[in-house]
Amino acid sequence: MQQLRIPGPTPCPPEVLKAIGRQMINHRGKEFAQIMRDITPKLQQVFQTKNDVFILTGSGTGGMEAAVVNTLSPGDKVLAASCGNFGDRFAEIAEIFGAEVKRLNFEWGKPVDPDAVRQALKADSGIKAVLVTQNETSTGVTNDLKSITAVAKEFDKLILVDAISGLGSIDLPVDAWHCDVVITASQKGWMVPPGLAMVSVSEKAWQAYAKAKMPRYYWDFKLAKDYLEKGQTPATPAVSVFFGLAVALDMMLAEGLSKVFARHAKIAGIARNGAKSMGLSILPEEKYASNTVSAIKASDKLNVSKLLKLLEDEHGVVLAGGQGILSGKIFRIGHLGWVTEKDIKEVMDAIAEVIPQASS
Ligand code: PMP
Repeated sequence: MQQLRIPGPTPCPPEVLKAIGRQMINHRGKEFAQIMRDITPKLQQVFQTKNDVFILTGSGTGGMEAAVVNTLSPGDKVLAASCGNFGDRFAEIAEIFGAEVKRLNFEWGKPVDPDAVRQALKADSGIKAVLVTQNETSTGVTNDLKSITAVAKEFDKLILVDAISGLGSIDLPVDAWHCDVVITASQKGWMVPPGLAMVSVSEKAWQAYAKAKMPRYYWDFKLAKDYLEKGQTPATPAVSVFFGLAVALDMMLAEGLSKVFARHAKIAGIARNGAKSMGLSILPEEKYASNTVSAIKASDKLNVSKLLKLLEDEHGVVLAGGQGILSGKIFRIGHLGWVTEKDIKEVMDAIAEVIPQASS
């Protein structure tokens, strides 16, 4: 069997695979409405929020676009704090829809510095919103979101959080940290296939919605809320992925959120220690190293594409390379969702075995 250890899509448990293989049902019928009514409060539990939570059919990027177009108007100033590829994507989305984006960029592999966010907000009182990534999948960095959101709150700014590869796997108490819109996606720590973006929307975000003028049709939060009241979605949802999510959420809640987070932390530790024991180093400083994706630096002698090919061909282990400027310089192990200590030990053993062949 293949060990798919990229940072999403992630493997699905057999119970989820069985659920998604079910026959279709009427998405405007009673049974689907019941599923939506069951899932939504469970999602709120995992988001640790009393805010509205919507399940949108689309990938995580769609959720990011939804966050932007529902809360902002063309010409609004936003601060986009980015430390990698996905932080840059958030900034680009805001820019394309006409926001005046002030980019606060950090070196790839380093976290967003909350003090720099404070300075930027202090320097320009016209900024309306802060865009930030909880877990930067391209560099394996988990930002100090608690401090960053505290700064945004200090200045009373709207805060939009891309938590696509972290929520459900790494603690993110949405209400306690005053996050206004938080986005995640089904193919990450949720143990279900791609197809759904889940977003939470705070009262402050609704106030922003009332004034927001960016064009939107498919991603309209108000429409999502109106339909949710009927147990429906505005357009045809990815019904099968809903079936899977219902099962996966029960599994997550049965395990218990704190246990899910602890399992991710432990497994990430195994990945990091394993890499270090092979003489490799982790891209971010240990304190910021992600519990869902490990970015491991390749030594000068290690050929990343050869490493990935050998792992897949000889061990059935599928890992990810680096993105953008980190292409060829790092490789990434996804350890999120349906993953055990045994899985990650097998992955580390396979890496240790192929490294000599992948090195010059
Ligand atoms: N943000 C982050 C942090 C991600 O990890 C990803 C997916 N790798 C995205 C955004 C984009 O999500 P999607 O591919 O589901 O559109």
